[in-house]
Amino acid sequence: MAFPPSPLDTINWNTLGLSITDAVNGHVESTYTLSTGVWSTPRFVSDPFLRVHGLSPALNYGQQAYEGLKAHRSPTNSILLFRPADHAARLSASAAYVSIPPIPEAHFLQCVKMAVARNAEWVAPHTSEALLYIRPLVFGSSGHLALTAPTEFTFAVFVQPGTTYHGVQPLPAVVVEDFDRAAPRGTGGGKVGGNYAPVIRWTDRARTQGYGVTLHLDAQTRTCVEEFSTSGFIGVRKAGEHVTLVVPDSKNIVASITSDSCLALAESFGWTVERREIPWSECKFFDEVVAVGTAASLLPIRSLHRPSTGETFYYGAETGDVTVKLGTAMRNLMRGKVADGFGWTVEVKEEDLLVDEAVAAQAPAVEDVSERPAEVVEEKMNGVEHTNGSVDSKEIEVEGKA
Ligand SMILES: *Cc1c(COP(=O)(O)O)cnc(C)c1O
Repeated sequence: MAFPPSPLDTINWNTLGLSITDAVNGHVESTYTLSTGVWSTPRFVSDPFLRVHGLSPALNYGQQAYEGLKAHRSPTNSILLFRPADHAARLSASAAYVSIPPIPEAHFLQCVKMAVARNAEWVAPHTSEALLYIRPLVFGSSGHLALTAPTEFTFAVFVQPGTTYHGVQPLPAVVVEDFDRAAPRGTGGGKVGGNYAPVIRWTDRARTQGYGVTLHLDAQTRTCVEEFSTSGFIGVRKAGEHVTLVVPDSKNIVASITSDSCLALAESFGWTVERREIPWSECKFFDEVVAVGTAASLLPIRSLHRPSTGETFYYGAETGDVTVKLGTAMRNLMRGKVADGFGWTVEVKEEDLLVDEAVAAQAPAVEDVSERPAEVVEEKMNGVEHTNGSVDSKEIEVEGKA
């Protein structure tokens, strides 16, 4: 069979949203054992469930880090990842914040490519608005009560098809003032779970007040812009034809790969790029403000409100032309519609299915199976099924589709 397979023809790709359907074929798992210091050969598991010890540091101490990246289908039907090596580097940086060993770039790429290759029919048609969202995840997985390194870590890669809506209307944003996302010298630079769960109640509250996006200022002085709760901040200034993009350079924010890509594109357009502190007061002078991230792409901000001062800065109800130009360029690059002069896209190929390696991973010599759930391998695309869990993957698929 030729690789990649065509997109499923039973899916309405333009109305997927991002809700979890559990309809994909499965996920990839690899474990790191402290005594050997190596990550195991990736295994494909044909359901969305993990066996995690109830006393694992992941569940008890928040020892967890994650990534988010995307795959698209090109006009010539190849499957393209966007900047996966940069996501690999960032995951290891996030892991370091929470005392998790690094995931070597080659291993990250192998696992991500395998997860995408084994779910290739879930990569949407080039012409649709849909994407395959990829969620790599690493955590301390063995039972371990002491505040020391556990004996085992798990790296897993999940995929989820979804649709992001382009041409969205600009959204109003509000500054979160009763809560600090990230302390100075804290973990704010890491994509670690502990940075997100505390924010949910503030984003929920903001939404009830009509704000779809929340902005965080620096915790120490509350005078400088840091980032939105799940995306980076770009301020745009225009002087005649000349455009300047300004992004915060704080150590307490997640280094957005979307933002970095926008800045590189801006430079290629001959625009000016500034990475520096952004005082809140400067926000009044921006012509456009954009929230940027993998999941949201480029989300234009209509207004920025700060409750404690009563200030509101307006950027307009229509998407600005700088945001449109950057968004279109990003979209065309990710989807292989234009030549990639940056070397950002990486193709997923047939060998990334890793059929032989996945079988080899079941050999007891590679992994101590006494410490892991028993798994049965099927060499076909069905992949691996858990045999000792209470979970029946077929049951779940039906539930997910109901
Ligand atoms: C993931 C994330 C971003 C965006 O990073 P991208 O690489 O552009 O996806 C920005 N801020 C926070 C808090 C994030 O979690």
